[in-house]
Amino acid sequence: MRRPQEAGLKQARQVLRKVFGYDRFRGLQEQVIAEVLAGRDALAVLPTGGGKSVCYQIPALLRPGVGLVVSPLIALMADQVDALREVGVRASRLDSSLSPEERSETLRSAVRGELDLLYVSPEALASGFLLSRLEGIRLSVIAIDEAHCVSQWGHDFRPDYRALGRLADIFPDVPRLAVTATADGRTRADIRAQLRLEEAAEFVASFDRPNLILSAERKDGRGVERVVELVTARRGRPGLVYASTREGAESLASALRSAGVTSLAYHAGLDPAVRAERQRAFLHDDEMVMAATVAFGMGVDKPDIRFVIHADPPKSLEAYWQEVGRAGRDGELAEAVALFGPADMRRLVRWAQETDASEDVRAAQVRKVRQLFSFLDGGACRRASVRRYFGERETEDCGTCDNCRAPASDGTDITRYAQMAVSAVVRTGQRFGRGRIIQHLLGEPKDQIDRDHSGLSTFGVGRELDARGWRMVLDQLVYDGLLAEDDRDNRPSLHAADREIARALFTGDLSVSMRDDPLRKRAQRSGRKRAASSRTPEPSGQDDELYQALRAWRADQARAMGAPPYVIFHDRTLREIASLRPRGVEALCGISGVGDTRARRYADAIERVIEGLR
Ligand code: ADP
Ligand code: ZN
Repeated sequence: MRRPQEAGLKQARQVLRKVFGYDRFRGLQEQVIAEVLAGRDALAVLPTGGGKSVCYQIPALLRPGVGLVVSPLIALMADQVDALREVGVRASRLDSSLSPEERSETLRSAVRGELDLLYVSPEALASGFLLSRLEGIRLSVIAIDEAHCVSQWGHDFRPDYRALGRLADIFPDVPRLAVTATADGRTRADIRAQLRLEEAAEFVASFDRPNLILSAERKDGRGVERVVELVTARRGRPGLVYASTREGAESLASALRSAGVTSLAYHAGLDPAVRAERQRAFLHDDEMVMAATVAFGMGVDKPDIRFVIHADPPKSLEAYWQEVGRAGRDGELAEAVALFGPADMRRLVRWAQETDASEDVRAAQVRKVRQLFSFLDGGACRRASVRRYFGERETEDCGTCDNCRAPASDGTDITRYAQMAVSAVVRTGQRFGRGRIIQHLLGEPKDQIDRDHSGLSTFGVGRELDARGWRMVLDQLVYDGLLAEDDRDNRPSLHAADREIARALFTGDLSVSMRDDPLRKRAQRSGRKRAASSRTPEPSGQDDELYQALRAWRADQARAMGAPPYVIFHDRTLREIASLRPRGVEALCGISGVGDTRARRYADAIERVIEGLR
């Protein structure tokens, strides 16, 4: 690693303190900033909520010139710019929502050196016009946010990102920093190649998110009702519910409203103006639950989202981590609950197979779907599993996820049933779905095709289990990757997923276990899945009243400013104020998250709130 420049870092620490109100850098922030301050390119992979923005904001404030930030979501640029202005940074944005006059004016102030940061969209940059205007401006740093969008191997490919490689030629002397929250090795290599960051130092942080409490449960057939139950157990907190379809998002939102929860739907089928308004409403509200498709997502920078519920599962572990990562960016406890079922797996495999990408990209995507489901249904610590998936070694168990709280080690050994099922699938020719396989195992032929197989050795070997027990076993084998389920001729069919694994199963080198006992009837089955409904602990006690009063003050203030509450102060900052009760500008400056500008602006008001409760 290169030696950080001490003088530059000292100034960087002062800016962190004075402008953003934080005492020390987090994780790799300091190293990334040192690299950029030294004028060198960098690629930083930091988890959501890890504080990627200050990695380019601070160099932009310290180096001469304007910091150019390429950010993919227009609606969010506005909030980022508001938040920066709130802490006294001269920030502006250029996007399609501005009039030509406003745009020219912004560019002029950039030329005059009156801006610290300029946010632009990749679409705008892809057009040559803006690039040619930027050539006349002195840039301090170029930051490319959500850099994984440049890669087809990632999960959010955006063609406009490809044009960003040209920035290397136009601004050879300006350090460029690519940041993202999710990129495996292959995606990172692609980012370097496409964005011309061959020489860039790479910083990859741990993917751990210690404040997230993860759990997953098989869908129990109650659909929306279960989601409503999960949400109402968390009433009064902002949350996000992901559905796989527009109709799903709509019906969840209306079911939640019927249950008395403030909720809106968000998906790509809505008019752009409606979408923008709903996104705004969500950001500005303290307890709204958004029921959305993944159209609602990238860059949802609301830091106080307290839970993310997947009413339908995401399409890969990368997507999962990014989506659940939207919860708890402020570092306070937050929960993620994912619901999943075999039909979801089939749908996602089919989608992956139907994209028009090259064959190896499709195969990689199908593999990602299967890995996701073995994670969801697996019994290992969830946070440790995700970290291992992203290549971390020596990951300790989190102690808070559903699997840590109720270990699956006391599950039932189903190796024998697994052998029966896999051989039944293989012997009948790997072309039938669950229904026929179960009839075959039970020796209950329904038609001539079933009867044709009645001479096989697997016919009727499975009578100790009932049909429901077999269904559970087959689900388990699919999630574990022993059987694969694909659509053939529009019908789901099972086949042995991997020869080596199947062989290990029959030689006794591989055993399979299951959390529930397939011999037991439904009513007796474990209540493990209810684990997720217990609420996150909420701080209470004497500070609580003051905390609530501060929240109310913040809500009024935010409404008056037309800004989201967290732009003023985060929950965590309010909580610290509630317990330390700082009086005056200086004392308020000592609170984490309060910089000079806001301390001066709000010291009196906060003192009045504290006084009011004495
Ligand atoms: P992301 O990496 O997800 O883009 P952000 O840059 O939005 O994260 O930062 C997440 C939150 O963490 C922000 O509210 C930011 O103010 C806060 N933050 C950033 N750096 C620090 C730090 N060094 N100490 C404490 N909080 C920080
Ligand atoms: Zn765990």
